[in-house]
Order: sequence, then C-alpha cells, then structure tokens
Amino acid sequence: MNQTLFLLLILASLSVSAQKKVKAATYKVEEKSVAATLKFLSSDALQGRLAGSKGLETAAQYLEDVFVKNGVKPYFMSYKDTLTNFDKTTYNVVGYLEGTDTELKKEFVVFGAHYDHIGVEKNPTTTDSIYNGANDDASGVTTVAELVNYFGRTKKNKRSILFCFFSAEEAGLLGSQSLAAKLKKQNFNLYAMLNFEMVGVAMKRDILAYLTGYGASTMGEKINEYASKKLVGYLDVEMKYQLFRRSDNFSFYNEFKKPSQTICTFDFENFAYYHKVEDEFEGMDIKHMTAFIQEMIPVTDKMVNAKADDIVMKTK
Ligand SMILES: [Zn+2]
Repeated sequence: MNQTLFLLLILASLSVSAQKKVKAATYKVEEKSVAATLKFLSSDALQGRLAGSKGLETAAQYLEDVFVKNGVKPYFMSYKDTLTNFDKTTYNVVGYLEGTDTELKKEFVVFGAHYDHIGVEKNPTTTDSIYNGANDDASGVTTVAELVNYFGRTKKNKRSILFCFFSAEEAGLLGSQSLAAKLKKQNFNLYAMLNFEMVGVAMKRDILAYLTGYGASTMGEKINEYASKKLVGYLDVEMKYQLFRRSDNFSFYNEFKKPSQTICTFDFENFAYYHKVEDEFEGMDIKHMTAFIQEMIPVTDKMVNAKADDIVMKTK
C-alpha cells in the first residue's frame, strides 16, 4: 500500500467515526413529536387501553406504524406477539433492529414499556370515567417510540435491539412474562433490558430519574458514565414498594438473570393521580419528558454500542 492511499484510508475512517459521534450528539428530540404520541395514546378514544379491548388494538396499530415508518422489522412473523397467558386475545407489539457488528449483534438490548392500562371505571363518582394512563404508561411508550425514531433512522447499533410494547402489565406483568418465557426457550441472548415507566412528570430531586434494582448491576453507574453526569440514582422507598418486581423488567430478570431494570421519574410525591381517572395528557410535563428522552439518546446509543460485558450483574 502506498503512503498516500494509506493516509487517505486513515482520513476516511476518521471521518466515518466522527460522523457517527456527530449524529448521536446532535440528534434532537422534538417536543411536538413527543406531545403527539402521548396525546394520541392517552386520548379518550382509546378508552383506557384495557388489555383485550378495542382501544388497545388501536394503540397497537399506531405503534406498528411507528415501526414501519422507521424501517424497524417484526422479530416474529408479525409485530403482534400474542400472549399465551391471558384469557382474551391481546398482544405485545415487538420490533427488531439487527445489530451491525458481527460479534456484538448476537446480543440483544431490550427497550420496553407497557402500552396497556386499566380501562374504564364501571362505577364512576365523577363525570370522567376513563383511565387515560398518560403517565402510566403512555409516557414510557412515547419514550420507546422516540428511541425507535432515533435508532430506526441512524441504524448504527452494534448490538441488536428488540423494542417491546407490552400488553397486560396491569393484569400482573403478563405480556412481558409471556414474551420473556418464549424468548428464553428460543435461546435469546439478552445483554440488558431497560424498561420505561411513568416518566411524564419531573421529580424534585438531585437526579433526573431513578433506576429500580440500582445496586444489582452496573447499569446505573454505566448510564451515568455514558451521560457524563449523575442522571440516575436510587429511590429511598424502593424496598417499601418492591419496585424492582413491580414492572416488566422483572419478567426478563426472572428468565435471564441479566441486568433488567426500570427507569422512572414518579417518586410517589410528584404525582397524585396514579391509577386515577385524572392521569391525563394535560397533567404531563412535555418539556421534562422531551429533556428526559433527549438524555436517553446518547445513553441508549452507548448502551447498544459498548464493548463486551460493560453492563453486568454484580455478584454478591
Ligand atoms: Zn405502569
């Protein structure tokens, strides 16, 4: 190889890696897009998104369209992954983005949020009877939808990504249980699972969000390292409310014993409408949500592209 060609090749490889960095660093999450998804999912038309209902079906179709628009393929035969443990027909909506690195693509990062909620109140005490579930968990679903927008457009993920919108979480984590058990049987190679719950209202704390099961793995420390700031921490009432076991991350931990955690900005003090009909779009802080998702872009980007064994369980 002559020296000029050698130099040109070095320059070319430098500009490629520079381009990658610029993309993750300059990508902008749009408030308008965040608000539009959140508003649709939490609208009265969806009737509280009860598992097995027509309203949830409409939400599923909307989420499939997000995958299609961004060139994210189904992981199974279709985007719909029907639950095996629920009496009515309901499904998780699952999208797949293959990794770009020959070795790392064998590992999967799972990003998830539950798109179901608790439906309509049969004995309403006010004129409002619809549980819109804007914070719980249309906010988490909106976050994952924005990650689909980002990773779908950039397609620079070394590890493979599974985007999961779970059904029947409110009935006892059934959608994630059904899916995690099925994946385990298929020898799915899980690297880490990050679940998004109730991120629609900001906490008055020195951290932006907390991570359930903070001390169980290196995920929290790595998130802070990837963000170059103390973004996440531990919530003092975690044990009291058994938060690690209260959302879909637990189904994945249970099957795989790999880092599987929930990130959340609801601390039991900043929002009075948990599982109330007042959990509505109007009560959500779109600026906070957009800022939160913006922080998650470089964090999740580094998570899917990090070297082997960056995020691991801590042995006791
Ligand atoms: Zn929830």
